[in-house]
Amino acid sequence: MLLHPLRLAAVLLGLAVFSLRAQDTNVLPNPGFEEETAAWQVGEGDSLVTADAARTGKFGLRISNDRTKARGCNASSATFVVKAGQEITLTFWARSDSTGAGVYLMYVSDKGRMVNDPGTKGGLPMTGLKYDDKEWHEYTVKATVPAIAYGVRIWAHTFSSAQCVVDLDDFQITGLPQDTEVILPKPYVAPAKPKPIDFANLPQRQTPPAIIIKLDDLDMRGKREHPRWDKVVDYLDSRQVKGTMGMLGSSLADASPEYIQWIKARHDSGNWEIWFHGWDHKTHTEADGKTYNEFNHRSFAEQKKRLDDTQALCLEKLGFPLTCFGPPGGVGNGSQSVETHQVMIADPHMVAWLYPQPLDGIGKQTVQQGKVTILDRVWGTNLEGSVGAPDFEAFVRGYIKNLDRPYFVLQGHPVMWDDYRFAQFTKIIDFLVVQKAEFVLPTGYAATLKAQ
Ligand SMILES: [Zn+2]
Repeated sequence: MLLHPLRLAAVLLGLAVFSLRAQDTNVLPNPGFEEETAAWQVGEGDSLVTADAARTGKFGLRISNDRTKARGCNASSATFVVKAGQEITLTFWARSDSTGAGVYLMYVSDKGRMVNDPGTKGGLPMTGLKYDDKEWHEYTVKATVPAIAYGVRIWAHTFSSAQCVVDLDDFQITGLPQDTEVILPKPYVAPAKPKPIDFANLPQRQTPPAIIIKLDDLDMRGKREHPRWDKVVDYLDSRQVKGTMGMLGSSLADASPEYIQWIKARHDSGNWEIWFHGWDHKTHTEADGKTYNEFNHRSFAEQKKRLDDTQALCLEKLGFPLTCFGPPGGVGNGSQSVETHQVMIADPHMVAWLYPQPLDGIGKQTVQQGKVTILDRVWGTNLEGSVGAPDFEAFVRGYIKNLDRPYFVLQGHPVMWDDYRFAQFTKIIDFLVVQKAEFVLPTGYAATLKAQ
């Protein structure tokens, strides 16, 4: 059959309009939650679809946090199978009482796991919520799909320590062809909630533990230590609890007299030990394209210089050398190397090492060598549930699982502690005081262990 020329023109015009519009079409299923949670994964950290969160239509998405959700409160959309170079635009509306949340375009592998794009700051395109006025605002995130991404999905996330209630609605993803393959998410399955702790019948230890409060990242801000260091020092001193500070060697290079005086006074009080937490705590990226922590993937000479420079400044400005080391972290591929062991053994002053992990094979060799004593970690027993966030209940759960352990090294980052986190820290100290814990300093305690 032949088409009438006019009808043919109409068909061709229709095709042209269609192919133009294909890129503008919102490919997202259930973009405004009118089919409730269909085609979304909702539930982690109590995220939910509710009428209270609607901007248009009947329903919207709510994510919230009361500072206790260490993984945040999360929801994710269906996943789109993408091609490198595609330009995606995400728009959505949000109403928030806090800026403690963000909406991301999450890149994923063909296994559905998140992958970071080295060319994007933070690894994923995102926008943080900029308004806390509880009014609806429209947001846009643009991205060019990197070769590393098999798929992309929307991820709404509250930051781990945020306190917020955020409503989200009317999502739109444009820039993808209409026939883009869509993978629907599996429904969220909540992990089993741990049983409440029975504080009246806690399992008891035979003997109280020794506790090393390992506080990291002492550096100079302006002319002084960070005010949150003053807060934790005042608190522990008032409780007559001993603490330690991991200092960056570089902070002594152009230290103010006030900073030097403050460190010296802590040291002289006998209540505090200052230890070596690296020269500058900076990670470094090598020719293999990988990023390493300060004491990983560096030669003996490079590592030794970082310690030697610090010891020289300590002797000159503080009047004492450091005798304990705890390596700085940053990325997850190791904080120390064989060379680090050689450096600590070669240094004339180093006798204690706050190990960032349970004792390993090379650590055993170093201990046997006899000069440096290693105080290692127990993975399950931590001051902070996630970095920077002390968690009283998580601590107690870990504590009662390790009743035979003679000592614990408890690591914290006081500069990250807001009032809520600080209160969790003081609850842990209160608990340990009731437990009759002996708060010790690492160099002295290392000598005690060695003598045993
Ligand atoms: Zn650190």
